[in-house]
Amino acid sequence: MKFCGHCSAPVSLVIPQGDNRHRYVCDKCDFIFYENPRIIAGTIPVFGSKVLLCKRAIEPRLGYWTLPAGFMENGETTQQAALRETYEEAYASPELGPLFSVCNLPKGNQVHVFYLAHMTVAEYGSGPESLEVKLYDEADIPWDDIAFGTVTQTLKRFFEDRKQGIEQLHHIDF
Ligand SMILES: [Zn+2]
Repeated sequence: MKFCGHCSAPVSLVIPQGDNRHRYVCDKCDFIFYENPRIIAGTIPVFGSKVLLCKRAIEPRLGYWTLPAGFMENGETTQQAALRETYEEAYASPELGPLFSVCNLPKGNQVHVFYLAHMTVAEYGSGPESLEVKLYDEADIPWDDIAFGTVTQTLKRFFEDRKQGIEQLHHIDF
């Protein structure tokens, strides 16, 4: 950040009075620009023994596989964001289940959350951000071509839990 979004004057990276972290502060109007982590919400869409994955048509990680997920919009709940992204990327409208994983990425300033989601019908397709959308059995998951560590860890834990017949919320730190 170089210029103030309010008055266009230059900004400086300083610790404001009473604060303990560096913030961008406008040299002219003194506006403090707080930067906070972004939340990515998605689903684990399950149809029978299979899970729905999307091959990314956009950077980052173009051509790699992911669970449908994306940045929350203002005015949304995490549940709404997860379902919206699932429709936008995979044209699927599963029934939302419990929260499955909360992934903290302090180095990337992000939090990724994934909900279990039950597909009552095998209806899906490639949204504009997906090259391909496909139902995968565990044995066929392209583990080497998964786009993000949060997706790999969420999928691994999903299959482990299913084998053991347990339901639990996973907190995963990266
Ligand atoms: Zn300003």
